[in-house]
Parts: sequence; C-alpha cells; structure tokens
Amino acid sequence: MSHDEPKRPRVLAIDDSDLVHRLLRARLRHERIDLHSALTADEGITAAKNLQPEVILLDIDLEDLDGFEVLARLKADPITRDIAVIFVSASNETMDRVRGLDLGAVDFVGKPFDVGELKARVRSALRMQRLVKMLAQRAQLDGLTGLWNRAYLDDRLEAETDSAIRYGNPLSLVLCDLDRFKNLNDSYGHPFGDEVLERAAAILGSGRSADVACRYGGEEFAIIAPGTDLNETMEVADRHRFRITEIEWPDRPGVKVSASFGVADLTCISGTPTPEKLIAAADQALYQAKKAGRNQVVAADVQIWPRAATG
Ligand code: GH3
Ligand code: MG
Ligand code: MG
Repeated sequence: MSHDEPKRPRVLAIDDSDLVHRLLRARLRHERIDLHSALTADEGITAAKNLQPEVILLDIDLEDLDGFEVLARLKADPITRDIAVIFVSASNETMDRVRGLDLGAVDFVGKPFDVGELKARVRSALRMQRLVKMLAQRAQLDGLTGLWNRAYLDDRLEAETDSAIRYGNPLSLVLCDLDRFKNLNDSYGHPFGDEVLERAAAILGSGRSADVACRYGGEEFAIIAPGTDLNETMEVADRHRFRITEIEWPDRPGVKVSASFGVADLTCISGTPTPEKLIAAADQALYQAKKAGRNQVVAADVQIWPRAATG
C-alpha cells in the first residue's frame, strides 16, 4: 500500500456476492475512495470496527445474518455507531426501506445499481459524514474558550479512570474556580468577565499535551492529568495559579485576578475509584481552598499547599 497518497475516505461494501463486489469495484473505480469488501455479516462487522470506514454499503439479503440485524448491531456499538450506512437491496418493498431508514441507515440503493445514482448517493453520504464529524467535534468544545466542554470531560474522565485502573497508572484531576468572579463581572462588565475566562483558559490549556483542560461550568475549569500523581499535579496547578495572578489587563490596569484549585488523584479515593468520587474529592479540596482564603491549591487530603500562600 502506498503511504504517499492523501488519505481517501474508506467505503466498506458488505455483500455475500463476489459478483457484486466486482461490479462495485468497476463502477466506483474513478471515485476518490478506498473500497473494501466483506463477504459475510461477521466479516463485515469486524471490518467496520477495524477499518472505521466513513460509509458502509450494506446488502440486506446476506446469507449468515439478516442485513437489518447487521445494521442494528452497527448502530448499537459506539465504535461503529456513527458510520453512515447505505443499504442495498433488490427488494422494492417500501416496508424494507422504511425499516432500514428507521434503524438508522442514511440512504437506500436498489439493485441492480444505476451507476450514476450509486455514485451520487455514496458522495452524498460522505459529505454528510464529514459534516457529522465536524459537528460532533464542535459539540465537544466550549464556544468561548475553545477548551473541551463538560460533556467531553465526563466521557474522557470515565475512559481515563478505567485505563488508569487497568494499567495501574496514576491519574489526577484538578478543579479550578475563579475567585470573586461575580465581583469582576459586576465591577467591569460581562465582556471583561469573558476576557478573563479566555485568558485563564489559555493558561490552563497550556500544560503538557497529555493533560486535558476543560471548561467545567461558568467560571469553573477542570484538568485531567493522566499518568500524573498528586504531588506533581499540585505543582502544575500552582504554576497555573501563579500565572493567573500575573496576568496584566491593558484596559483595566491594576486589576488582579486569582483562582482557587482543588486537586485529587486516585490515591485519595477509598474503594473502587470512579469519576464521580474523583470529582467529589477535588471539589471538596476546592471548597477548602475557598474557605482558607482563595488563590491557593489544596489537595484532597486537605493539606494546604504551598502553606505559605495561606497567609
Ligand atoms: P467565589 O470566589 O466564591 O468562587 O466567588 P464567585 O463570585 O466567583 O462565585 P459565584 O459562583 O457566586 O459567581 C460566579 C459568576 O460567574 C456568576 C456568573 O454570572 C458568572 N459567569 C458564569 N458564566 C459566565 C460567562 O460565561 N461569562 C461571564 N462574564 N460571567 C459568567
Ligand atoms: Mg463557581
Ligand atoms: Mg468563582
């Protein structure tokens, strides 16, 4: 296989007829796609998982498993759920089309294929797929700060917790809440508040590439730090804390912004670690940081760190 060519969209055809695969290959020859074939439902489902094609052409009349069942399984698995499935059938039964579309297929092509129609439907599915991908990614980003949003944080924290437990790696979570932010909004206006959020987010997002910085809520942020233990993460958080206090505001000279941080890692948690417990532990520490006077980092086991910052 050549690796020099730009990556072409992958299309997987699942059909139990060799003839159909040859036909497709011939007719889609000039399309800018990588066409893959699977001859059975089993092979098709496995290929869909491994290959992650943009589009699947799925024959409804398979021998080993009903194509509708294949469609249902593809849609039930998060790994294959978002692949655009065009189903292909010799049946002209309206009920079959309705059933396929209801199961989540994006389109239908009748057999025998009309070449022009087939190409147009594949192209249209690829276009839609690109849009879906873009929207899905955008839906996980926070519009103001460009950091990951809460929905992404929840998914990612769950995945990172599982993986940390499985491989015995450290995992830390930082929660950060801007101090007296309501006062800033009230004194200098909402646009200034937004600017503060953007600048603070830029600092929180500037850490190591493995760290996952998210906007957790209004003026609250979270950082997932995989492979990092409590002490290391405390240092990272304190560097962020310091940099936020150092921000200069050209339009508001003299204004000082600060933030409070709560940090927890898996060792702070009793019993089986869960994302909820990790968040609760970091949140409790954040609450302590606020109570102790703000502008500081507190670990979940309620050690104030650095102690000098309290005074
Ligand atoms: P504390 O130090 O205890 O955290 O005090 P605080 O004022 O920061 O906390 P509080 O939760 O009372 O206020 C948070 C404020 O954040 C209230 C809300 O109006 C403001 N806020 C939330 N989202 C946004 C936003 O997107 N832009 C702006 N400008 N303000 C926001
Ligand atoms: Mg808050
Ligand atoms: Mg606040």
